[in-house]
Amino acid sequence: MNATHLNATHRCTVLARRHLTPRTVRLTLGGPSLTGLTPFPAQDIEVLLTDTRGKRVKRRYTIRHARPRAGEWDIDAVLHTGGGPGSAWAASARPGSPVEFVGPRGKLRLRPADGHLFVGDEASLPAIAALAEALPSGQEATAVIETASAADRVPIAADRLRWLDRVDCLPGTPEGLLAAVAQEIRARNFGQVYVLAETRATRAVRELAHSAGVRPDQVFAKGYWTAGRRTSVDPT
Ligand SMILES: Cc1cc2nc3c(=O)[nH]c(=O)nc-3n(C[C@H](O)[C@H](O)[C@H](O)COP(=O)(O)OP(=O)(O)OC[C@H]3O[C@@H](n4cnc5c(N)ncnc54)[C@H](O)[C@@H]3O)c2cc1C
Repeated sequence: MNATHLNATHRCTVLARRHLTPRTVRLTLGGPSLTGLTPFPAQDIEVLLTDTRGKRVKRRYTIRHARPRAGEWDIDAVLHTGGGPGSAWAASARPGSPVEFVGPRGKLRLRPADGHLFVGDEASLPAIAALAEALPSGQEATAVIETASAADRVPIAADRLRWLDRVDCLPGTPEGLLAAVAQEIRARNFGQVYVLAETRATRAVRELAHSAGVRPDQVFAKGYWTAGRRTSVDPT
């Protein structure tokens, strides 16, 4: 069965946990309700959590791998300094911990094109990795990804991969991504552009792509988080 936008609630268990990088932890979630479900690449889940004031909140994480026969999904969660309930949950989740979430969800889909440009940061690395490896042969992936430092990088099956280090810039500062994306768009044609980054950076890169002649229907832009603001979940 191919899952699209089911929005089912799953009561699962954390089956495994390992660090991919010092700040990124892979959690394997499992339960009978996941058996037989095959999400589209880069669909996500909303983990249902309780914040420090006892309020119910949701945080979104990309389904990095799905093993439908085993009923297991992997998510790769970044542990943010000063992060909120999502980071706190990922930091404390251990094999045996119960976890409740809604999914698979999300409208992001690969669209056919000769060349795809993926733009993002630590939070969208799992989505970009899943999308790049799902591309049919003959369709090229270029990725421009900004992370705090080289220690945050994970392997991605892109034909061209450009890593940017944030160095002293604040997370979500768009200048680094803008300069690199401008160079890429000047250098080659992209039939599809996917911008999955901090909200303001996403908007700035989308506008840059439009002003460089990439049509609106060729750009999928989605803010994955908002600098300085706790997440409020929207429907895309
Ligand atoms: C469709 C979708 C898929 C996503 N997939 C993933 C995924 O696979 N892995 C993943 O790690 N994240 C993913 N994210 C991003 C994640 O949901 C946000 O980073 C979320 O804000 C983390 O929640 P939190 O409770 O830790 O922080 P919040 O309570 O939302 O925010 C608290 C503070 O942490 C800071 N903060 C939050 N996120 C970031 C960040 N990315 N970088 C720097 N500072 C941050 C904020 O500025 C804020 O001040 C995804 C988001 C979307 C929309």
